[in-house]
Amino acid sequence: MKIFHIPAFTDNYIWCIQKNKKLAVVDILITHHHFDHTGGLEDLHKLVKGNIYGPKQSNKFINKFVSENDEIEVLGNKYKIFETPGHTLDHISYYSEDINSVFCGDTLFSGGCGRAFEGTFEQLHNSIQKLNGLPESTLIYAAHEYTVSNLKFAYSVHDDEIILENLNRSKKLLSEGNITLPTVLSLEKRINR
Ligand SMILES: [Zn+2]
Repeated sequence: MKIFHIPAFTDNYIWCIQKNKKLAVVDILITHHHFDHTGGLEDLHKLVKGNIYGPKQSNKFINKFVSENDEIEVLGNKYKIFETPGHTLDHISYYSEDINSVFCGDTLFSGGCGRAFEGTFEQLHNSIQKLNGLPESTLIYAAHEYTVSNLKFAYSVHDDEIILENLNRSKKLLSEGNITLPTVLSLEKRINR
């Protein structure tokens, strides 16, 4: 199995989980209703042989509604659903212990979190605490490349050597044509210390 990304728009990452010739796509595992995460369904739903999972009422092409604690199986791996409202009210995240990974959409990024567009800061905080409860080695597949701007801001308010080190490492990755994601929960905990 391998996980790779398709870049979209200016800074979106569409995560693809590939096994043999089968492909699962985040967002075909829909995290929330925003257009930059669901717009592709208009064309893509015609090609999808399996299910399009997502929160109820997020998009008309979702045919399997999922909510808190639901478990689904995608390409042989189990995923547990966490409701993670804040950025939007419908936002969910997909966690797979089998592949030690969470697909958290716009809830958590490296060095920062999503904007609270629809939910309250308290809701977003609670959602991040759910992700914070996952094993420290969990890989975080966030949906945008915000790492450098997040870490620049973090360093401007908190003079911390680990933040600076990761800011420089992230800049270097991007300048070499790589991406900074996935990040890992233990690093995010350290950055936010
Ligand atoms: Zn969004």
